[in-house]
Amino acid sequence: PYSPNSPKIDTNHDALKEAAEKSGVKHEFQAEINQLLAIIINSLYTNKEIFLRELISNASDALNKIRFIGLTEKEALASGETYEIRIQPDKERNTLTIRDTGIGMTRNDLLNNLGTIAKSGTKAFLEKLQKSSDHSLIGQFGVGFYSAFLVADQVVVVTKNNDDKQLIWTSAADNTFTVTEDPRGDTLGRGTEIILHLKDDAKIYTDDLELRNLIGKYSEFIQHPIHLYTTSV
Ligand code: ADP
Ligand code: MG
Repeated sequence: PYSPNSPKIDTNHDALKEAAEKSGVKHEFQAEINQLLAIIINSLYTNKEIFLRELISNASDALNKIRFIGLTEKEALASGETYEIRIQPDKERNTLTIRDTGIGMTRNDLLNNLGTIAKSGTKAFLEKLQKSSDHSLIGQFGVGFYSAFLVADQVVVVTKNNDDKQLIWTSAADNTFTVTEDPRGDTLGRGTEIILHLKDDAKIYTDDLELRNLIGKYSEFIQHPIHLYTTSV
């Protein structure tokens, strides 16, 4: 389910990008990730909209995780018991923000989950993808979080896990990513915010109607409410 109205998220992220560029610790992606990113970025694959399916699915997983932990550890929910996904386009800045109140990521999570290919099946999939000129494999199997780079030339992840400070992960898919402590401190309470700085040819993903359709399409099996911030009715 999704609801068409939700409170506004501050989408002025210039300061975040600056902080990450200035004081962020630079890390190299695992070689396989670079290969994957190169394929994604240079891909002529046209069905780019699947990035939203992947990001909604990750948000939903993260919500399920904290909800499950909260069943036995009440204090894990100290930062709130709201389980929701919020999506907000910003036409002026050409960004799309996806926020969840899920489990969030620690520094180690960021380094391990958004820097390496952790899953065993992914390597085999990547080999298949490299050999084949059939780019529809990207959509069929899903390339997870990295599909964000189908539509974005820079991705900023702000995240807050109970066991760490609020952190900023950022990458322009140039073989490196940075991780830095958020200079604003804890603004999320708990969860993850993904800010996509959209490519010029992906402006359509700031369109209310387009987003509404996509969310409808990809939220069928999602158990958590998805709120789309819209300016139009
Ligand atoms: P998968 O979802 O199949 O594990 P992804 O590439 O989509 O692969 O995501 C990689 C990992 O990054 C996830 O397993 C999770 O640990 C972490 N992650 C991604 N998005 C989020 C999020 N919104 N909240 C918390 N963790 C996330
Ligand atoms: Mg995923």
